[in-house]
Amino acid sequence: MRELICITCPMGCHLAVDTDEAGEMRVTGNRCVRGEQYAREEMFNPKRVVTFTCAAVLPDGRAPGPDSSLPRRVPVRTTSAFPKEKIPELLEVLRSMTVRLPTVRGTVVLPKALGTEVDVAISRSVALK
Ligand code: SF4
Repeated sequence: MRELICITCPMGCHLAVDTDEAGEMRVTGNRCVRGEQYAREEMFNPKRVVTFTCAAVLPDGRAPGPDSSLPRRVPVRTTSAFPKEKIPELLEVLRSMTVRLPTVRGTVVLPKALGTEVDVAISRSVALK
């Protein structure tokens, strides 16, 4: 048996996932059908929203200097939950990326990341001063 907490809504139901005699997955503890869907996805195709920071560069391609008030890194996040097994590979890609200032929140910097339907977008606007 495996225990999970459903994170689909603030109720946070404690789920128990088990298999019955026929080998079928059985979920208990859920207050609604979404809990069962969450448990199935968590068991067979777990996903997480990924947040990271990418190195920022100025319009001329240089990094902001130590005296600059501009951030040296810009936060990004996946636009929806991303397959958990691919997260290490995604972090490697994001680690190698730079984001050009200024930035606008919501701008996609990595469309269809690693062949998925999930984009990575900037999560903070930064203006040049
Ligand atoms: S099972 Fe339903 S009520 Fe419970 S946390 Fe999940 S979505 Fe919310």
